[in-house]
Amino acid sequence: MSVRVVETVAEMAAARGEMRGVVGLVPTMGYLHEGHLSLVRRARAECDHVVVSIFVNPAQFGPGEDLERYPRDTERDLRLLEEAGVDVLFMPTVEEVYPPGFGDWVEVTGPLTERLEGAARPGHFRGVTTVVARLFRILRPHRAYFGQKDAQQLRVVRRMAQQEGLPVTIVPMPIIREPDGLAMSSRNVYLSAEERTAALVLSRAVREARRMVMEDGVTDADRVRDAVRSIVAGQPLVQLEYASVVDEETLAELDRIDGPALVLLAAKVGSTRLIDNVVVVPKGMAAPEGLRELA
Ligand code: AMP
Repeated sequence: MSVRVVETVAEMAAARGEMRGVVGLVPTMGYLHEGHLSLVRRARAECDHVVVSIFVNPAQFGPGEDLERYPRDTERDLRLLEEAGVDVLFMPTVEEVYPPGFGDWVEVTGPLTERLEGAARPGHFRGVTTVVARLFRILRPHRAYFGQKDAQQLRVVRRMAQQEGLPVTIVPMPIIREPDGLAMSSRNVYLSAEERTAALVLSRAVREARRMVMEDGVTDADRVRDAVRSIVAGQPLVQLEYASVVDEETLAELDRIDGPALVLLAAKVGSTRLIDNVVVVPKGMAAPEGLRELA
């Protein structure tokens, strides 16, 4: 069976109307890699209909970010989705998603969106929640799959769905990494060979943070932040933006790690901005059910 490619909201809504059973949605910006495909495969295993969206959402890019040069390869994406057994590829234009006079902005306010990526990229989450809410309203998925790679986004989207009363289960999926540890990202293609090697310091830093907490039993969050900072500082091609140790659920900055937490970082490698994170639980504590798979 080939993938049905849908480019308009009207056609997508009509196609959705004909679907019976469980509908799964995997929202992406395309230029697909194994991280995306892991979400697609989980959706395929759990749902009767799998819809993947590819939309490079201008509203979530800030001025001076990489909107214009964001990598695209629709032919390859389509082939990968075909192999993965996806039913529908929804690939709307910007005008379809944001028609003239569009005003249906959806925003999650408060600490969850103000810090970390929200502080570094003003307006970013408003762009994300608006487009994801629009997709949820068009597709009415039962399940939607999001990667822990974008840990804050996952939590913001979950809050948005609650806030907007959208009856969708948000399924969190673990970070897929390259064999050498680098978290997969469409943006990795921007890296020169030298930067690609330098970028390894990011996964090395979060891995060391996890080791400190889970093997050495470190609970002082500042010690973990300092360790991350000093590992990244050892790599002159990488400029750290933030290194945070936060509560896994609220993303509030921690003094002491006494429950499930996230160690998050953002950094510039040359001109490419990358993020990474790990889930940690204090030494000896069992990770709660939903987190075990992410850790
Ligand atoms: P993007 O195309 O970058 O917007 O990502 C689309 C979805 O794929 C988001 O839910 C991401 O969190 C997820 N994703 C991206 N990279 C990875 C990865 N390395 N592992 C797991 N999920 C990922």
